[in-house]
Amino acid sequence: MQLRIMGCSGGEAEGERLTGLLINGTVAIDAGSITQALSVAEQIRIRHIFISHSHLDHICTLPFFTKNIFGHTTGPVEIHALPETLDALRRHLFNDELWPDFSVIPTADHPTIRYTEVEPEKTYEVENVRITPIRVNHLVPCVGYKVEDDHSAFIFTSDTAQTDRIYQVANQTKNLKLFITEASFPNEQDWLAIASKHLTPKMLGEELKKLKVDVPVGIYHLTPGDKPVMLPQIQAIPDKRIHMLEQSAVFEF
Ligand SMILES: [Zn+2]
Ligand SMILES: [Zn+2]
Repeated sequence: MQLRIMGCSGGEAEGERLTGLLINGTVAIDAGSITQALSVAEQIRIRHIFISHSHLDHICTLPFFTKNIFGHTTGPVEIHALPETLDALRRHLFNDELWPDFSVIPTADHPTIRYTEVEPEKTYEVENVRITPIRVNHLVPCVGYKVEDDHSAFIFTSDTAQTDRIYQVANQTKNLKLFITEASFPNEQDWLAIASKHLTPKMLGEELKKLKVDVPVGIYHLTPGDKPVMLPQIQAIPDKRIHMLEQSAVFEF
């Protein structure tokens, strides 16, 4: 499996925390950075996008993506997400006000995108990978994803405060190669992390005690302006598995 980090706000690179992962060039998880990270030719190869939740930093390039691929694909790109997330996309984004409704363009029978509901804990097989949404604990309905093929697996928690289930799943996943989770605000802003259902580095350290397998842990979602404060706080966590997830990193496993 090849995993390419399209956007993450993990390491030293400047930029917004626009989130997106690309698997084998054809399946994306979240769409915060598709059109910034990929050429148009690469965008046209994407057949499925699994969205974790409706926050803008996870969906904001979807409109430009649909415009870029329009007329270049043989069938609709499937947008997989929780029903609540799809509802938000329909009502607030592809609503013919902020952006045209590409789920009926050019025609309802042959649209550019098609919405597909996901159910937590159910496994979906697309493009030779198996993808399982796992519910996590965020301000809006949100799922992380387990992604597997016959050789390897990784888990992306997406944005989440304290949560248990996705750690149980990780501990039971054979061939787990990478666990990606978040740290959003400095330790001094734990009130903000609690209010917005995110983690500080200190909370992250506590969460990772639930992960019982020895795999690299990639950290993403740092608030850009707070990186100088947060990076030393993350380095201070006594857990050797922790790495900063780097923008444009490519993993082969
Ligand atoms: Zn969020
Ligand atoms: Zn986010």
